[in-house]
Parts: sequence; C-alpha cells; structure tokens
Amino acid sequence: MTLRLVVGLLITVIGLAVAGRRVLWLYRLISSGQPVSGRIKDVRARLETEIAEVAGQRKLLKWSVPGTAHFFTMWGFAILGFTIVETWGALFSRDFAFWWFGRQSWLGFVEDFFTVAVILALITFGVMRIRQAPERRERKSRFYGSHTGAAWAVLWMILGVMLTLLIYRGAQFNTGHFMYGRSGWPFASWLVAHALAPLGSGVNTVLETTFLLLNIAVIMSFLVIVVHSKHLHIALAPLNVGAKRLPDGLGPLLPMESKGKPIDFEDPGDDDVFGRGKIEDFTWKGMLDFATCTECGRCQSQCPAWNTGKPLSPKLVIMDLRDHLFAKAPYLIGDQEAPSDATVAGSEHHHGVPESGFGRVTDSGPSQALRPLVGTAEEFGVIDPDVLWSCTTCGACVEQCPVDIEHVDHIVDMRRYQTMIESNFPSELGGMFKNLENKGNPWGQNGRDRLEWTKTLDFEVPVFDGSLSDDVEYLFWVGCAGAFEDKARKTTQAVAELLHMAGVGYVVLGPEETCTGDPARRAGNEFLFQMLAQQNVEVLNTLFEGRELMRRKIVVTCPHCFNTLGNEYPQIGGDYEVVHHTQLLNRLVRERRLVPVAPVAEDVTYHDPCYLGRHNKIYEAPRELVGASGAVLREMPRHADRSFCCGAGGARMWMEERIGKQINLERTDEALGTAPNKIATGCPFCRVMMTDGLTQRQNEGVAQESVQVVDVAQLLLTAVKRSPEQSSSEHTMT
Ligand code: SF4
Ligand code: SF4
Repeated sequence: MTLRLVVGLLITVIGLAVAGRRVLWLYRLISSGQPVSGRIKDVRARLETEIAEVAGQRKLLKWSVPGTAHFFTMWGFAILGFTIVETWGALFSRDFAFWWFGRQSWLGFVEDFFTVAVILALITFGVMRIRQAPERRERKSRFYGSHTGAAWAVLWMILGVMLTLLIYRGAQFNTGHFMYGRSGWPFASWLVAHALAPLGSGVNTVLETTFLLLNIAVIMSFLVIVVHSKHLHIALAPLNVGAKRLPDGLGPLLPMESKGKPIDFEDPGDDDVFGRGKIEDFTWKGMLDFATCTECGRCQSQCPAWNTGKPLSPKLVIMDLRDHLFAKAPYLIGDQEAPSDATVAGSEHHHGVPESGFGRVTDSGPSQALRPLVGTAEEFGVIDPDVLWSCTTCGACVEQCPVDIEHVDHIVDMRRYQTMIESNFPSELGGMFKNLENKGNPWGQNGRDRLEWTKTLDFEVPVFDGSLSDDVEYLFWVGCAGAFEDKARKTTQAVAELLHMAGVGYVVLGPEETCTGDPARRAGNEFLFQMLAQQNVEVLNTLFEGRELMRRKIVVTCPHCFNTLGNEYPQIGGDYEVVHHTQLLNRLVRERRLVPVAPVAEDVTYHDPCYLGRHNKIYEAPRELVGASGAVLREMPRHADRSFCCGAGGARMWMEERIGKQINLERTDEALGTAPNKIATGCPFCRVMMTDGLTQRQNEGVAQESVQVVDVAQLLLTAVKRSPEQSSSEHTMT
C-alpha cells in the first residue's frame, strides 16, 4: 500500500506541476490581450447560455451523431469525476468510498453506464475520423488542416482511462475491496471481474494496484496533453461561451474599441489602435477564442468560400491566429525583446497545409515576432490577403461553432487595420469607397435619380416633404440597390404597390437617402461608415422628431439596410423600429389587408439571405409569404440557419471573384437542383447574384429559359392582383 501511495502521489505531483505551469502561462498570455467591454454583463443570460450550450450541448446536437457522441463524452467526464475521486481515495485506503452514498449500487450503475457510453462515443468518433480522413478526402474533410495526430492520441488516451478504470475495478471486485461489494449493478466492472476471476486472488491484487496506478498515470498524462493541445476546449469552452457576445456574434458589428473604450471618430486619440494589425492588438476574448478552438471543422464545412475552392477556412484562420499567438508568446509575456529590425525568414518545416499562413514561419524566433499579421506568402504573413478578403461575412461559421468563436468580428477587425491604416485592400473597393464618399451610393449614381423607380407606377409614391403627418406609419427605406439596380427596382415597385393596395401610410426619402454604410463597414472602412451613418441618423432623427420609439417605424427591402438601421445605428444614437418587407407583408396578409386571390401555382425554392436569416433569425415570414402566394415551396438541401451565401455579403458584391468556383453559381446550381419554376429571395443583392448565376446557366443550356429569380414580394403581388389588367405579373416579375 505504501509503495502504491508513493508512486500514485509522485505521478500526481509531476502531472499537476507540468499542467499547472502551462495553465499559468495560458492565463498570462490570454490576459495580455486588450480589454473589451460588455463581456461579463447580464449574468442571468450568460448562465442560461451555459445551461443550453455547455450542459445541454445545444449547438453540438444539431449534428445528431457526433453531437450525441459528444454529449455522452462530456457528461461522461462530469460523472466520472466520482471515479477519479474514488481512484485517488483508493491510494490511501483500498476500501475508500464516498461517505453516505458511496456504496450505493445506483452510483456504481451510473458510473459504469457512462464508462461504457464514453467507450461507444470514442468508437463513433474513431469511425467518423476514418470516414472523414483528410488524407483521403482532402479539402472535403472537415478535419483538413486539423491536428489529427493529436486528436487520435487523445481518443486513445480517453480509451485508456476507461479501460484501466474497468480493469482495476474488476480486480477490486475479486479482491473484496470494491465499494459496491458483490453487486451486479456496476455491470461493466462486474463483467470484467468475472473475466479476471479465474486468475486468482494474488494476480487480481497485483492487477488492482497496477491498473489503479496506470489509471492515474493516464489521467495525469491526459491532463498534460489537454492543456498543451486543442483539447484545451474541455476547460476553456465554458469560459468562452460565458463571455460570448449576447445573443451571439451575428447581426451588428461591434463598435470599434481601443484599449476597451469606443473610439471617438470625430476626435480619435493619438494612441488609439484601429482594428488589429498585430496579434497583441486582439482582445483577451479574441485570444480566448483562438485558444478554445476544438479544430472540429464545423465552420469550415459550412463556409461558402471554402466550399468553392478559396483558401479561406474559418477554422484555419482561428488556428493560424492561435498558433501565431502561442509562438509569439515569448515576446508578449516573456523576457524576449522583439527585435526592431531583422530579416523575416520562412521555416523549413511546414505542416503541409498550403492554406495555412502560420505554416510559413513556425518557430518562436525573431521572424515570428516581426512577420506581418496579414501578408502574402512572400511577406510570410500569418493570414493571407486572399484569405482575409474572401469572407462574405455570411456568419455560417459563427452559427455553427459549438464553442461560440466570433470569426466575423476577427476578420472584420483585421480588415479595419488593413483598410484604414495600411490602405491595403482589393483595388475594386477603392471605386466603391469613392462612390460612397462622393455620391452616397456604391454604384456612383446621381442621388437625384433615387426616385426614378416611381415614374412607371400608376399611383403616386409619397415623398417626405419636411413634415411627417400622423397617418404615415412607415418610412419606406428604399436602399441604394432598390433605387438604382434594375432588378431590385422591381422589388421596390412591388412593395410600394402592395403598401398602396393595403392602404399603409408610408413615405420615401428620395434624394435625402444615403447608403447605410454596410459595405464600407464590412470592408473595414469604419471612417466612411461613421460618416454615412451619422448623416443618415441625423436625417432620420429629424424625420421622426417628436415620435416615440414605437412609432419610429422603417420598412426596408434590403437585409443589409435592415441589419444596419436596426442593429447598428443604435450604436450612434439612431433608434428605430425596423421591419423587413417580408415581415410587414406577412402581417398585412394575416390581417387580410392583402388577400391573395390568384394563386401562383408554381414550384418555388427560397434562398435565405444571410443578413435576414442567420444574422437576424428571420426564416418564417418569407416562407409563409411564398405559401400565401399559392406557390409550392421546395427547400434546398442547405436552407434556413444552414443556408449557403449568394456571395455578395461582406462587400464581396464589389470585388472580383478570381479564385475557385463562383459562389453565386454554386448556390444557383443548388437552387436549380430543386427543379423550381422560380427562385425567390428577399434581398436585392442575393437577387442580383442569383440572377447572374441563372443567366450563366441558361446561356450554357443547363437551366430552362423559363426559370426566373424574383423577390417574394413579387410573388405576393401576382397573387393579390385581381383583374387581368392589373395582373401584369409578367411585367412585374421580370
Ligand atoms: S463568415 Fe462565411 S465566408 Fe466568412 S469565414 Fe465565416 S463562413 Fe466563411
Ligand atoms: S472555430 Fe469553432 S467550429 Fe471552427 S473548428 Fe474551431 S471550434 Fe470548430
């Protein structure tokens, strides 16, 4: 017993010392990040999130097989905490048991149940990893680029914990020192005991001690590996989930902060940091994100850029930032002074993933300290510009991530530095910025033409003339696309006609309207966004002057305007009730102010715009409208929260798509796969992208000429029009 105690305690002390040193290092590194505001407020909501996402594994269970396997592994770890205490207790006394409940059979059953459940989960994970092996499936595997060797080691190690546990418990049973006596309820231990019984009491005594010590050794090795690997998430995930953006990292971008304080764009401080230009510019929450990544690849599997052959994988972005942070740590928290100048040299040993920017320099020397955060392969950048600018900010990664990593925020923060400090952005964006600055819209159209769309309508569109009468319920925010882009104008006209038919009091701003600033903000040009947003907020606050919040209503057809006006303008003093046209039209149908009388008897597939769906969780209203119009809805395989981007978000609408398959073509192909008569959507940008994709496929003879891309408002308009004269649906649709 004494030898067993000494060896057991020695292993424990060594394991705790090595792991403890690493934990201290991680704490110092993560807390060296910049401060960030609002991450511990609203304790109640955070606790609820912990219960749903950590205890309930809400996000993981969206993927039923791996989710269930992870659920049992996570709970297995929690429950098997009892066996860990029992193991260490057995070092001191062979008959150790928890005090009043420690010898009850139900506890033995629960422990064995979870031991077996974890073993089954490990087998499931193993099968999944073989089926998804990146060596075979390459970029199609969600584990491509992940550290698969470490993952396998940990799976074997957990299996080792479970097997050594069962063997020493079986031996304990046979030597008469099992805390549950001769009970068969700890069924797995009982089975092992029966298998070992023929070996006799002497051998079982040796087995008991040997496997107890092995169990301790494997647990301590596991602890050391966990704090040195991606399995850190076991400890960090609850912290990261608890400090997440509430409700999540979608919807609005955060106001720019420097040292935890919002930047005053009218009078910025001399030492304010704009965006992230170095790894140490990230906040502690960003660094916690990087350290928490489980390398599961759920984000990568949903990313439209990755799925169309671009080098951007949200997983690799997070892994690269983490690996760079860890490799640069000696300069951030150690004694090493970063050299002021030195030649940055690449590493000879890459880890074989060409899309990984970190792999260009992997050591912890001066090259790591000096390399640019964003830069080409020649510059040894951690994140390649092609990676940074491929993002459409669609949010699929954030939606999927089981540990609530906020990829979009990090990507936009790096773009902010590149755009505002380095003036280093895709050249096409220069034109868009100039158009926004000079003309107030990305197309560079004349602001006076914002009412051109009204000219072909056979009713008058009310324009704001300086005062808002009481019977005006909504400001109809037309948006730049809705005013200037030919296809989007059809949507604007359809919505105006439907509002007119339903007798809704509304006005439009006309030339007073300016771009909300969404594309500038997503492209990292926060200065320009602030300028446009301030201008709009001033106009809107004047327009709604004297009205309480509930009556400051705006209806929009563009989900990007919807998101910016509703979620981002409150950051600069603009508070309004913003609805998307699909929500308002749906309500008008329910109130029978719009009555569909001529059903659209066609098959329609609906494409969820990212900024309406994932970013703002509006999935049902447009679908109900498709149903109300009498059309038959055919869902694409990727829809609702797993919808696939059209390729226009994140200011990608104004950038050339030079790498891989075009995202809009990928989505159009998926839509055509449902054999629809029409592809409906609720966003002018999606409409443009899908129309372009459809036209290309029609030119190639792959799609039927009769298929059209429409807005759901147009479907409804066709259905509510009564007489043949009014029913100029073809005119309206195309
Ligand atoms: S936001 Fe979309 S495009 Fe950007 S990294 Fe995430 S999944 Fe990929
Ligand atoms: S970022 Fe999230 S979803 Fe992506 S690999 Fe890491 S843990 Fe998984």
